[in-house]
Amino acid sequence: MVECDVESASGFCNGDFVFCHGASSLTITNSTVIVLCVKRDQYKTVTDFALLVPASEPDAMGEATFLSETECVRHVRALKLEEIKKTAKGLKRAEAEHFDALLALRDSLESMDGLARDNAVERMKRVYRRRESERPKYPPEVERILGETFASFSGLSPEETIKYMDGVRSGPKASASLQRLFSYEVSQAVGSLLHNAQIVLWWMEGAFRPAIYCPDIKTALYIHTFFLAPVGGVGFRICPYDGEQFFQDRPNQEYCCPAHREAHRVARFRDKKKRKAAESGKKVRESNGTKKAR
Ligand SMILES: [Zn+2]
Repeated sequence: MVECDVESASGFCNGDFVFCHGASSLTITNSTVIVLCVKRDQYKTVTDFALLVPASEPDAMGEATFLSETECVRHVRALKLEEIKKTAKGLKRAEAEHFDALLALRDSLESMDGLARDNAVERMKRVYRRRESERPKYPPEVERILGETFASFSGLSPEETIKYMDGVRSGPKASASLQRLFSYEVSQAVGSLLHNAQIVLWWMEGAFRPAIYCPDIKTALYIHTFFLAPVGGVGFRICPYDGEQFFQDRPNQEYCCPAHREAHRVARFRDKKKRKAAESGKKVRESNGTKKAR
């Protein structure tokens, strides 16, 4: 029996599969699976979710007891941390750009780093430009009818409404708020019709196990990165200095290496100075303009 210490279980338990729930703990041997222990509140209760994906019967840890019986029998297994890392490495170019842009956006919003935020916004723009160039077009008449039908809801022109519906631009509110943009993009990535993750209660080996069931490993990567890791685990980040993706060694690691932390501190200082100078130059120009107008 392995006891899971709430204070130290801030990531993954490599080795035995440990579930902690209240005072009880369970061990499944010979598995290396993702376990998250979240310190929820002042009472230090914990909730853990295994990330489940479909599995062939020989690889399965159990039956998907949470799915409808009208479907064929399906089996599931909990993901290994190494699989999450491998999935991120194997993303195709457009997928990798989207994943990294969202990471960069989240990290810059958390740190309130203006320089990193500007870089993240550039990355998101590149994602939209790529989607636009790859977007399959409907016949013009269909686009016109769809655009005109939904324009009054979106608050955009019919042409822009079509682009928004196809995911090649952000909505007007998300365009004005990076937080909203991030919220929307991440939620769409894990909750669209094709990639619908579900919170489930899995009955396995005589116990109920709260779990998140993902239809594929890519959805699991997003769930792990944007939902689970930020509340007590280690996960992927974008280094604000070089913009490269890395996997954390500890939960509060923000840079890929100490040298880049120092280098970015200097870059941020210079950027702030530049912004300040630009702002005061603007104010001087405005005040001169006002004087001339008088
Ligand atoms: Zn770096």
